[in-house]
Amino acid sequence: MNSNSSIINIDHVSYRYEKENVLEDVSLSIPKGAFLGIVGPNGSGKSTLLKLILGLLKLQKGGISLFGQDINKFKEWHKIGFVSQKANSFNTGFPATVYEVVASGLTKKLGLFKFMAKQDQQKVHEAIKSVDLTKFTNQNIGELSGGQQQRVFIARALVSDPELLILDEPTVGVDAQNVQSFYEMLGNLNQKMGITLLLVTHDIGTITDKVTHVACLNKHLHFHGNTDEFEQLKLNDMSDFYGHDVHVLTHDHHHHHHHGGTSQ
Ligand code: ADP
Repeated sequence: MNSNSSIINIDHVSYRYEKENVLEDVSLSIPKGAFLGIVGPNGSGKSTLLKLILGLLKLQKGGISLFGQDINKFKEWHKIGFVSQKANSFNTGFPATVYEVVASGLTKKLGLFKFMAKQDQQKVHEAIKSVDLTKFTNQNIGELSGGQQQRVFIARALVSDPELLILDEPTVGVDAQNVQSFYEMLGNLNQKMGITLLLVTHDIGTITDKVTHVACLNKHLHFHGNTDEFEQLKLNDMSDFYGHDVHVLTHDHHHHHHHGGTSQ
């Protein structure tokens, strides 16, 4: 009903590659301005769901609408930025600077950077700034760490002003000590720039202060709610979720754990 106020509306989607369903009756809507973290074990259908949202796989059953429009009619793909998991695997020595890689995200003709409009140059610098890489602007991307390279690709996605940014496990190449500041940066994109974020992650336990919503996927959608509701789930429930018995994650169940542990 409210699909028009949702950036993404997933409606009873099922998907199979061969004979067994990989996604089964998944319904999920993502409001404008949300920062949704999708968690789930390996092979639980997370990438498949992202590919369906990005129009890279054809829907078999159910529907998806983007910005209030059926995905089969949707044409405003420039509103959606995507950074894949493998974005940060550049070899050292790849002959492009941070500035050049980010500029390549502009939809216009590439290569003639000296002819780039001032406005576009400004956009490139702003995108680089928004991922905190200003001091690396003219550095070769191959000289950057995995996490910094990931930021470069986020900036590349940001340069065309997306309203929605989709990230597939962006912290895979990020050093453990930099994960927190990486999410700090994503939190700023969400809160200060108002970009709706959809992220597949394994770090959910450490970022509940950054995300606004969490979805737990394992073929079915086992939980979907805001961060407060997610935090009421017990750790046991999460380990059960990652194990074989995933049916404990129902609303009825975790309401039993309701408690008023607020502190000033
Ligand atoms: P996740 O991203 O959560 O690890 P995927 O969506 O990549 O899960 O995969 C879900 C299931 O679908 C896995 O069992 C995987 O082996 C299978 N699968 C993924 N891609 C294909 C494909 N192209 N052909 C057949 N099976 C696939």
